[in-house]
Amino acid sequence: MSFDTLGLRADILRAVSELGYTQPTPIQQQAIPAVLKGGDLLAGAQTGTGKTAGFTLPILQRLMDNPRTTTGKPVIRVLVLTPTRELAAQVEESIAQYGKYLPLKSMVMFGGVGINPQIDKLRRGVDILVSTPGRLLDHVSQRTVDLSKVEILVLDEADRMLDMGFIRDIRKILALLPKQRQNLLFSATFSNEIKALADGLLNKPALIEVARRNATADTVAQKVYPVDRERKRELLAKLITDHNWYQVLVFTRTKHGANRLAEQLDKQGIPSMAIHGNKSQGARTKALSEFKSGKLQVLVATDIAARGIDINELPHVVNFELPNVAEDYVHRIGRTGRAGCDGEAVSLVCVDELKLLAGIERLIKRSLPKEIVPGFEVDPRIKPEPIQNGRNGPGGRGGQRQGQRQGQRRDGAVRVSADGGGNRRSSGNGNGNSNGQLRRTPA
Ligand code: AMP
Repeated sequence: MSFDTLGLRADILRAVSELGYTQPTPIQQQAIPAVLKGGDLLAGAQTGTGKTAGFTLPILQRLMDNPRTTTGKPVIRVLVLTPTRELAAQVEESIAQYGKYLPLKSMVMFGGVGINPQIDKLRRGVDILVSTPGRLLDHVSQRTVDLSKVEILVLDEADRMLDMGFIRDIRKILALLPKQRQNLLFSATFSNEIKALADGLLNKPALIEVARRNATADTVAQKVYPVDRERKRELLAKLITDHNWYQVLVFTRTKHGANRLAEQLDKQGIPSMAIHGNKSQGARTKALSEFKSGKLQVLVATDIAARGIDINELPHVVNFELPNVAEDYVHRIGRTGRAGCDGEAVSLVCVDELKLLAGIERLIKRSLPKEIVPGFEVDPRIKPEPIQNGRNGPGGRGGQRQGQRQGQRRDGAVRVSADGGGNRRSSGNGNGNSNGQLRRTPA
């Protein structure tokens, strides 16, 4: 299937083809016609599936098909909400790229940076606004943003927004939008909470779902290196140096662990930086751009900070520590092997994490190959210890909000307890199956 058959304008197709896209991804094949029809949409798709173009291309087409009625400066006709600053920036960048031949203005807003330049830009007029919920509400309270003309609302990574405690902010924003509008909701998982949000928000939505990355991760070579707890850093440095890995995204469980590991690797001569919610926006942007340009060899991230980082063809993902929530493993390795490119995801697993590993293998329905690096044989005398710190708390605005407890997950993802033996639990989420997947039902 080619893009030409989807009913998009020549100036949109030109931008798409200049980006090197030759055919629409499965989510694009389904989402583009559905959004063009003007109805609501509930889509199960993760980052890496091409979902951004899936909603952006038809939105641009619709804006051009139905020019605004007022003359003068643009008004906000499209609002895209995202959970993290990084995702907001990436989505807006994509919109600007796909719309480069159109006379439409887009803008991104998030907290942690000055509000005045945003106010100036809003005043000059914007057609498409991409924002995190918190900063948008800051503008609402200062009356510097007008949402009364919004025609299309997109909630991107809605599950993560709920995970990060943004539900009240989202409800406040929804109350400010015109009742008559098109709503598009994207989520990787479908919990009862997402379903409740979708039920209240969407009107007879088209339902689409594309294969989850755990079903399609065949382009990603996955490997486990068993290693002792205290020797992980040494092994990681060896792997990076021996294999000459560049652009390595390393996951740790905690912000503190991320900082410590990045500092230690850096001292060893492997250029590394940590990225997490406690870092300033400036530091995050700098780390990300240096990583993308290849100047920075290693980026150490926590799960929440890494969500939304989109780097094409990321060759290496390392789980320095396994996540407590098995599904986060799938999110993590979804950072690599994008769009048909090969990637490698390796996990350094110590005796404390064997039960987490078993939970992950159950979730992805396969056993991961294990490789012992000579000189790093596991010492059988070392006994497992309970994993400290639990799951890293939300790294976004406001940290842990609304009484969300450490380790608590509300999206129906499979949870594997760190201490209690890989018990698999899924929520009975009506429309979803035990993987939190969306079941297709007629619209
Ligand atoms: P997303 O899931 O929207 O974050 O997109 C993942 C990556 O795939 C982005 O880097 C896009 O530039 C890229 N991409 C999106 N659509 C296509 C396509 N049809 N062909 C090739 N790459 C694409």
